[in-house]
Amino acid sequence: MKSVRRFLPVFAQFCLAASLPLFAQTSPLLPSQKAPLSDRVLAYQIDANYHPKDHSLDAQETLTWTNYTGQPQDRLPFHLYLNAFQPNSTFTREGHLVVDRDVPVGSNWEDKHFGADVIKSFEVVGMGDLISQLHFIHPDDDNAADQTVVEVQLPRPVAPNEGITFKIAFHDQFPEIVARSGYKRDFLLAGQWFPKIGVWWKNAWNCHQYHATTEFFADFGTFDVKLTLPANFNVGATGVKTSETTNSDGTKTLVFRAEDVHDFAWTTDPTTKIVEDTVQLSSGTVKIRMIMQPGHMASAPRYLTALKGTMKKFDEWIGPYPYSQITVVDPPHGGGAAGGMEYPTFITADTTWWVPDGLKIPELVVEHEFGHQYWYGMVATNEFEEAWLDEGINQYTECKVMDALYGPDVDVLNTRAATASERGLARMGYIGVAQFDPMTRRGWQFVDFESYGGITYDKTALVLFTLEHIIGEQKVRQAQHLYFERYRFKHPTADDFLNTVNEVAGQNLDWYWNQSVRGTPVLDYRILSADNERADWAEKDAPKQEKQGETEYLSNVVVHRKGDFLFPVILEVKFDDGQTVREHWDGQDRWHRFEWHRRAKLVSAEIDPDHAVLLDRDRFNNSWREESNSRATGKITGYWMLLTQWFSQMLAWLV
Ligand SMILES: [Zn+2]
Repeated sequence: MKSVRRFLPVFAQFCLAASLPLFAQTSPLLPSQKAPLSDRVLAYQIDANYHPKDHSLDAQETLTWTNYTGQPQDRLPFHLYLNAFQPNSTFTREGHLVVDRDVPVGSNWEDKHFGADVIKSFEVVGMGDLISQLHFIHPDDDNAADQTVVEVQLPRPVAPNEGITFKIAFHDQFPEIVARSGYKRDFLLAGQWFPKIGVWWKNAWNCHQYHATTEFFADFGTFDVKLTLPANFNVGATGVKTSETTNSDGTKTLVFRAEDVHDFAWTTDPTTKIVEDTVQLSSGTVKIRMIMQPGHMASAPRYLTALKGTMKKFDEWIGPYPYSQITVVDPPHGGGAAGGMEYPTFITADTTWWVPDGLKIPELVVEHEFGHQYWYGMVATNEFEEAWLDEGINQYTECKVMDALYGPDVDVLNTRAATASERGLARMGYIGVAQFDPMTRRGWQFVDFESYGGITYDKTALVLFTLEHIIGEQKVRQAQHLYFERYRFKHPTADDFLNTVNEVAGQNLDWYWNQSVRGTPVLDYRILSADNERADWAEKDAPKQEKQGETEYLSNVVVHRKGDFLFPVILEVKFDDGQTVREHWDGQDRWHRFEWHRRAKLVSAEIDPDHAVLLDRDRFNNSWREESNSRATGKITGYWMLLTQWFSQMLAWLV
């Protein structure tokens, strides 16, 4: 509270909320929730000692895994993700290939980015020390140097429904921040820092190596994590803190508990300011805990407003948030590689000291990462294999929430000089990469980082916006709600999502899914030609002068299906007598000619007049005017390209 008072003159209102007494909340779930919420396949107990001097830790992990696979298991895989941060790992190799945000173009290996997770001992209760039975495996490639997945061969199988307990001692070396893990000066973001067991999924072990573009997939369970570190270090973590003791050697030990989550991350830094508040949701009062950099306090009220607004919208639209706390970490200057990341009940934001009010980057990052509490956190899809189910659905809900909170068309940039919207940026992210990869591509197999982002995030959002045009916005929302209700604390697949939409829509939309989700056809209808001919052209005594309202015209518009995506087309035409006509075409053939015989001249024609088919790659060929101003259109196009390229760069770190 001391740190907050320091900023009282500037943030009086904000700090008033922050100075509310803490309520005694030591359960990680809200009282309204009937635990357990998940199968709780896992129970982790980790006792870790962090050494800030060399950014390393030593820990003892006790993991109990229950065999719900329905068959005996004698080979179990574990992730050792920190080993990704090594020069010959698959992560590093792929980063150079696809040019992602974590491995800069042309960069050489730097030792400061070295990370490691080394198993010191590996005991299985009742089976003895099995460290000699560990071996690295490479389920995704032939990179023998990759050490991000280790497998243990048990001397005897674990029977169905039987539990097995591992006692693993490990040593972590954190890198200077890479891919949302590591240190910057005294700041540490500890993500993917402990040996984590794989998931039995689709009748096989699913334990992918750490890839440059993919994230994580794990089973639900409980975490009891004990962290010992210098007494002056602030700490934030998944779940809630249940105890804190000061030790005689200048350290302190904090204990955190999390339930019905599938991962555990934490952060520490001696210089941060803690800001606390609450938000009232239908499920109860949720505590907000923000760990702020002192130089970023101007962004704290912005984070808070965005977070509360987002939590309320998700509560209203999708379903209840069941946890008693959400922790927001604000990374330090130079630590942007830690920004924009999600872990259960724990997200990282991003800002700088200078962000103007009209540029909604701090808001957007907080919204996006909180959205992952639903699309990843609770609805725990496989981010390696079906990344669009979390990133893409989350991108769509991000657009909807940001629209609702900050206004459509201005939810990213709202200044006198320029405005920008999330959906506009999504279109620009998609159109350049439309023909390389389907949304269903495995995350690490996209042609490059642009395609991964443009398809996984942007195209998914555009597909769902275009779905609104087909079945209505309310039905899309109902489908998301039902999908959440049905699959929270489970591992649904793409088919589960698509079938849920089909069910709510009351129709089989496979014609749409096959093209948009499972394929790479491009949707592009254009006006090929438009023309007015005098209906009396063949009459010898026809008056030479045309007269508005009297002269009859044969008008026609040819609409061309330029792309290979089949989609129903609405054409709106206007005549010089003020009449507007809407025509429909099933869009199946390559082209279609519309004709009118009227005492009025066609003055304009437009495909998709409601601008609802956001998948249409080229909207500049959608309209025709009798006197078109091509110069103006060209100028607008150029302006948009410039602006969106700038934003694409800025947003490239959102994960
Ligand atoms: Zn994301």
